[in-house]
Amino acid sequence: MNIHEYQAKSILKQYGVAIQEGLVADTAEGSVEAAKQLQAETGTSWVVVKAQIHAGGRGKGKIEGTEQRGVALAKTLDDVKTISGNLIGGTLVTIQTGPAGKKVNKVLVAQDVYYPGASATKEFYMSILLDRQTSQNVIVYSTEGGMDIEEVAHSTPHLIHKEHIDPSAGLQGFQARKIAFGLGLSGQAHKEMVKFVTSLYTAYLKIDASMFEINPVLKTSDDKIIAVDAKVDLDENALYRHTDLAALRDIAEEDPTEVEAGEHNLNYVKLDGNVGCMVNGAGLAMATMDIIKLSGGDPANFLDVGGTANATTVEAGFRIILKDPNVKAILINIFGGIVRCDRVAQGVVDAYSNIGNISVPIIVRLQGTNATEAKKLIDDSGLKVFSAITLEEAANLVKSSLA
Ligand code: GDP
Ligand code: MN
Repeated sequence: MNIHEYQAKSILKQYGVAIQEGLVADTAEGSVEAAKQLQAETGTSWVVVKAQIHAGGRGKGKIEGTEQRGVALAKTLDDVKTISGNLIGGTLVTIQTGPAGKKVNKVLVAQDVYYPGASATKEFYMSILLDRQTSQNVIVYSTEGGMDIEEVAHSTPHLIHKEHIDPSAGLQGFQARKIAFGLGLSGQAHKEMVKFVTSLYTAYLKIDASMFEINPVLKTSDDKIIAVDAKVDLDENALYRHTDLAALRDIAEEDPTEVEAGEHNLNYVKLDGNVGCMVNGAGLAMATMDIIKLSGGDPANFLDVGGTANATTVEAGFRIILKDPNVKAILINIFGGIVRCDRVAQGVVDAYSNIGNISVPIIVRLQGTNATEAKKLIDDSGLKVFSAITLEEAANLVKSSLA
């Protein structure tokens, strides 16, 4: 689960990680108040206004139809008001949002930490994630922080370093010092970096995160080390033990169809193709998507209805798939192991008549327990549903229905 920068920073702060301080606002007037409060609390004169969306690349991104960047420096309270007004309610398009962009509902008004003596500041990159190959967490760091880490990884990969953490030993002092040396730090800044890395790693473990990305980590002109940006991904499978963190979920940032699918316990991922699929089991769903590709179609979605597909889940699945206007055919591929095929078939027939006027052809492939009874049920239903028993038959039916 993704959270906003302002939420991520507040969590990091609780674990002793130094951050760029800021206050969140959802109106231009609120931003001005936030800036005043921040000036009083931190002594900052300038502030940065940062769009809060679940995507990075904001510094280079622009609000649709304008020249307003997603992160902008405000030198006066008037600037704060103008920038916030431009951001809030606008659609921010960044390299990570795709061309559709994301609506900005909130901004973070943050202290300007690059001033005074901006030339004495230095931006680093740091992330923590699980390296599945070694079954260890890894801290990735680089002296080349800022806005273009993908470019650094591409053209100068030797400038990106990795420190693997043994899960039974945890992050060792020498490792934190190695990272600080690797970033070219000495003296006070070195000490601060050791503390930064150590607290950051503790936070990562304690909140069951699946990814941290802090870019930039800033060395200020007075040798403090602080998180200027914070991307935090939480492990959804561990959210049950963090009710406070689960509450940080922002549904407005998620695909509405995926949210609805989640409410029905369906695993749904929207894709760009034209063949909707409904499958029981993630592995079978992947194989089904391959078959669709082979037959010349493109999957419109991934949808795993789970091991206990019944009339209710089938109907919910149908409704969700049909929300996508690109869908030209639907392939239902169910393997009847625990679930009996004839019950699913009955579910399909019922859902079809409940929903009414479904204009796209539906191809149903049911294999396993009572598959023959299921095929008969569908063939006798008189509905525009085609049944198949083998995957090849199903693929051919999809192909001819798209032609
Ligand atoms: P991202 O573009 O979505 O990754 O957003 P960031 O939070 O990383 O901000 C983008 C850029 O804005 C940073 O790389 C900085 O160069 C700049 N920036 C962030 N905070 C400040 C600040 O306090 N002062 C100044 N002058 N620039 C800042
Ligand atoms: Mn960033």
